[in-house]
Amino acid sequence: MRIDIITLFPEMCDTVLDESIIGRARKKGAVELNCHQLRDFAFDKHRRVDDTTYGGGMGMLMKAEPIALCFESLCEKLGKKPHFIYMSPKGRVLTQQRVRELSELENIAILCGHYEGVDQRVLDMYVDEEISVGDYVLTGGELPALILTDAVCRMLPGVLSEDICFEDESHYSGMLEYPQYTKPYEWRGIEVPEVLMSGHHANIEKWRYEHSLLETARLRPDMLEKLELSEKDRKLLHENGLD
Ligand code: SAM
Repeated sequence: MRIDIITLFPEMCDTVLDESIIGRARKKGAVELNCHQLRDFAFDKHRRVDDTTYGGGMGMLMKAEPIALCFESLCEKLGKKPHFIYMSPKGRVLTQQRVRELSELENIAILCGHYEGVDQRVLDMYVDEEISVGDYVLTGGELPALILTDAVCRMLPGVLSEDICFEDESHYSGMLEYPQYTKPYEWRGIEVPEVLMSGHHANIEKWRYEHSLLETARLRPDMLEKLELSEKDRKLLHENGLD
């Protein structure tokens, strides 16, 4: 997969994307990530990428032309139009389900906004989808673009080490992950649940499922509404005062 990020701060993005798991994946070629300087596509005397808004109001808006030129140059390089995402607080809030779908695409381009946002005309012309990372407003689209890139990349083959199973993780199955423990067995007088020490795989699986369900009910009761609960599940929630 190839992801292209269009931004006024490519160094900021590269710094993050060169670190840790994504950095290693990038080095070994499990994913191709490119950050493009939008200002390189502003050809007026001052290389301006922003201007005042029509209709008045405070603040500046990103101009359409540099974005269009940058995206068109990318399309030419790729020989096709990548799925183009604008990171925006007006977009659909990102979910693990959407991350999974996006990880199946070959090419994604991401536009990071700044200031008051972007001239609507270039969004209407080229953008396929607006994605938000939550119902709050940040100063720029770089952090949201990095969140999206990280979430998508970790679904790709060869990015996570083989012993990490993302199917077990929070949100993949619609529930939150069960509580986890590491050594020592006893920490400040608190012991690890006995069943996890038993080596009995079926019992461990059962414990993990039940505690995923309880954790979801406790921390994100809204997620429970979307689950198909069995009689056993309902009984467990009732016994724990979580129904
Ligand atoms: N005036 C815009 C509005 O009210 O919708 C907000 C602009 S914001 C200050 C500047 C840029 O940050 C946006 O163009 C977008 O790219 C990015 N951004 C801010 N909050 C975001 C969020 N929750 N999700 C995704 N992108 C966000």
